[in-house]
Amino acid sequence: MRAGFPEFRLGAVLATSFTGTLSERFGEPVERIPVPHRLIDWLAVYGLAVDSCSLEQLDLARELRESVHAAATASALREPLPADAVRIIGDRSAGGRAAAVLTPDGQRRWRLGASSVEDALSVIAADAVDVISGERDGKLALCASPTCRAAFFDASQSRTRKWCDMNTCGNRQKKARFNAARRGPAGAAD
Ligand SMILES: [Zn+2]
Repeated sequence: MRAGFPEFRLGAVLATSFTGTLSERFGEPVERIPVPHRLIDWLAVYGLAVDSCSLEQLDLARELRESVHAAATASALREPLPADAVRIIGDRSAGGRAAAVLTPDGQRRWRLGASSVEDALSVIAADAVDVISGERDGKLALCASPTCRAAFFDASQSRTRKWCDMNTCGNRQKKARFNAARRGPAGAAD
């Protein structure tokens, strides 16, 4: 972690974790990849190590992020997917070279063509295609926090997850309810 920059919110699903690098979209938005080296840091966490990142590549990443956000949100709401978002996700998916390979102990690892940001984005875009197309077991839903509304992938057995992240949005909601209950009807009469 580097001082002075917002921490990452790390989820289990690559594509929706990537959209989470901008959070609180309906409150006070927090940009978690404000500079190129923070995108490098984020990609490294997900096994997509790249050598460098320019401002143009950061823009490309953010454009993909917002496209995944828009398409995943539409999918969660059962609305038609925005055409621009679909095109950008397709272009990024096709625009990089990456291969899934096995490590000697049977783990999946990504081998990027030139270790470029474009290669890494192609893996994220392909993951978004998987998640949005329903190829993976689970369903897209929107976070119940009114300031968040992030699209997240619910792979729980019951498919009843309400929050994108239990430690942040879920916790805040619980605390708000607890405080409201403690104030109670007497508080309302003050
Ligand atoms: Zn949330």
